[in-house]
Amino acid sequence: MLSLTDAQTRARSLRDSIPLGEVAPSPSPPLPAAPLRPPDTGPSLDVRGLSAWYGERKAIEDVSLSVAPRHITAIIGPSGCGKSTLIRCLNRMHEVVRGARAQGRVLLDEQDIYAPQVDPVRVRRVVGMVFQKPNPFPMMSIFDNVVAGLRLQGGVRMRHLEEVGERALRQAALWDEVKDVWKKASGVSLSGGQQQRLCIARTLAVEPAVILMDEPCSALDPIATYRIEELMSDLKRDYTIAIVTHNMQQASRVSDYTAFMLAEADRIGRLVEFGPTASIFTNPSERRTEDYITGRFG
Ligand code: ADP
Repeated sequence: MLSLTDAQTRARSLRDSIPLGEVAPSPSPPLPAAPLRPPDTGPSLDVRGLSAWYGERKAIEDVSLSVAPRHITAIIGPSGCGKSTLIRCLNRMHEVVRGARAQGRVLLDEQDIYAPQVDPVRVRRVVGMVFQKPNPFPMMSIFDNVVAGLRLQGGVRMRHLEEVGERALRQAALWDEVKDVWKKASGVSLSGGQQQRLCIARTLAVEPAVILMDEPCSALDPIATYRIEELMSDLKRDYTIAIVTHNMQQASRVSDYTAFMLAEADRIGRLVEFGPTASIFTNPSERRTEDYITGRFG
């Protein structure tokens, strides 16, 4: 079975060797084990001067921040301040909305994902996304759900699909709960928390370098939320993670860095403050951040 390190190395080598605009080769045999990277290195996302619109309406303006390798970056702020818009710009999901566009730069390991030659479909594979509401494919088994992305690439043998599927379910801390039924039971037969872990496994199965999570726990009960938070802390050993959350306790529990956004009278979301989570929550530099985290508004 592929180890985590192999999987991550493959994601990285894929990214390094193929410009994002080119067609990915059909899956190749596992690469020989590569030396471990130091724990503080890995893919980063640098956002520079990013603005985004829905039609004529500007939703976010001039956002710049860095999503640090192998750390968790939380994006917080009141409803409507542009958190989802921002995170969806980080893997070019924003432009899927009719009339939506973005301007600025998002550098994945120094390559601008908005450069003209870049294929957004490839970007979304390297920068995976988990959504607010668990969305397993309803007619598919757990196994078929996990390997759905890999199958789309074509030419993958059953044995390989099983290996990758099992590994992804183990990484998502779901394997022990589903291993006896994963080929038979439907993805939607699972509880909400299990479905969300299944969706995380589905994202992991295509070996992304970065994982974006848009309020991944907002539909879950506290126990399921706790399990996802634990899982995120495990995953950050190998992945670069950004999470949108409206739950400030969650941001303070799981994240290493926090970005606070706000839309004021003009309803355009801007970054107010960005820094280590401990500083943002205990010693913010901006009065507006302090007012928000102490519950004075929002
Ligand atoms: P948040 O995630 O912080 O709640 P959003 O990014 O969802 O904020 O929304 C930011 C702004 O963009 C809001 O004013 C919202 O109404 C607007 N918006 C979001 N999605 C769309 C859309 N599909 N079409 C038009 N406007 C949208």
